[in-house]
Amino acid sequence: MVRGKLIVISAPSGSGKTTIAKKMLERFPFMRFSVSATTRPKRNGEVEGKDYFFLTREEFEKKIQNGELLEWEEIYGNYYGTLKSIVEDALKSGDILIFDVDVNGAISIKEKFPDDSILIFIKPPNMETLKERLKRRRTESEEQIKKRLERVPMELEKAKYFDYIFVNDDLEDTIKSVERAISNEIEKWKAIQRHEY
Ligand code: ADP
Ligand code: 5GP
Repeated sequence: MVRGKLIVISAPSGSGKTTIAKKMLERFPFMRFSVSATTRPKRNGEVEGKDYFFLTREEFEKKIQNGELLEWEEIYGNYYGTLKSIVEDALKSGDILIFDVDVNGAISIKEKFPDDSILIFIKPPNMETLKERLKRRRTESEEQIKKRLERVPMELEKAKYFDYIFVNDDLEDTIKSVERAISNEIEKWKAIQRHEY
């Protein structure tokens, strides 16, 4: 039976992982995005059910209690979590899912599905560039940016648990590198499963 594959992208906030994950969805049309649940406010341009399922804290806590989340974390004062149903369906139907989750979420996914997951870490070139990108994005307050930067040392420390690490300096170069890594993984996986996309 064909089994799905989980491609997980993590990075310190502002490193470019969402930009890169979106590009991968364009380059690999058969890939689907694992839409997480969160309690953080919706940003301009974000779409319910496409970027996230935006929940209240009460709704999120109910999902925790009901065992509906594969993993969840409290990050920058908000809950974020992966829905079990999305991952189970993808694995059963042989789909390739791409995740944008934090380092702890990525490690949890690897622990649960060691043979089905690939972890990709995106590093910023340096702290100054990261700060600039976060400021230029204009989606978070000064206070929120500070919280996001405080978490960076812990995140960089955990890069060692990832299968691939790419420094996102030139965006086009990084996109090409991530695309090549994913293509290689898909080829390996197709050879094992004898499955065509
Ligand atoms: P993340 O999802 O990791 O928080 P984003 O994908 O939102 O990061 O990227 C943060 C900001 O930096 C965005 O405004 C994005 O357009 C920009 N960006 C991403 N990669 C690069 C790059 N290589 N060079 C310059 N700007 C970038
Ligand atoms: P943002 O608020 O910038 O969209 O996301 C903040 C952080 O939460 C990012 O590191 C993002 O990858 C992470 N995140 C998003 N969804 C999930 C999830 O389902 N689980 C975990 N553990 N982290 C998530």
